[in-house]
Amino acid sequence: MVDTQIISRGVEDKRVIDAMLQVQRHLFIEEALREQAYNDYPLPIGEGQTISQPYIVALMTEALELKGNEKVLEIGTGSGYQTALLSLLAEKVCSIERVPVLAARARKVLDDLHCSNVVIKIGDGTYGCSEEAPFDSIIVTAASPDIPEVYIEQMAGCSNMVIPVGGEYEQTLIKVSKMNGDIKKEVMGGCRFVKLIGKHGWSAERNGQLN
Ligand code: SAH
Repeated sequence: MVDTQIISRGVEDKRVIDAMLQVQRHLFIEEALREQAYNDYPLPIGEGQTISQPYIVALMTEALELKGNEKVLEIGTGSGYQTALLSLLAEKVCSIERVPVLAARARKVLDDLHCSNVVIKIGDGTYGCSEEAPFDSIIVTAASPDIPEVYIEQMAGCSNMVIPVGGEYEQTLIKVSKMNGDIKKEVMGGCRFVKLIGKHGWSAERNGQLN
């Protein structure tokens, strides 16, 4: 998987590559789908949600430019696979998941892997996590109609964020960099994520407008 899907497509960060070689993706996937765990596509994880395609995970993780001493906020724990990678690459990870059963499942796997620097919170991650802010990196693994202002506010003075932004069925992956308070946005490419459901994402009002 790492050779044919990640390195061959241009991911270069050695720390990201090493972490992906270390974390066994099949542990985050239900028994019946395990033989597909290293394939080049997303897989269902229950509750209508998916674990992202390995390449997208690598691309987003590389964009965070983690060196090892960061405090990271992840929105959308899902299976916990991305979380396990962040756990190896940063100092502390705060991950928020709105579906309790997914959070519990991820917690169990992360505990088995001794990812002791990960805090998982259950709730609406579109508020971010003001108690733990500011963050050196923010990674949003569900699609938002726009960039919630709270995330920008919770970014440290020099920090970055990756977030899929756009409509319900296709989005653009955006990298937001904050440098001494100045904001720069960079388009990374097209992607498709499940919806970021909550107050500052796909809120009930927004869903209503759509229907
Ligand atoms: N990184 C995960 C991706 C899971 S899919 C993985 O690779 O397994 C996106 C996840 O975001 C889903 O589990 C979904 O329940 C969660 N989610 C959606 N809206 C959310 C919100 N407002 N707050 C927290 N989690 C949210």
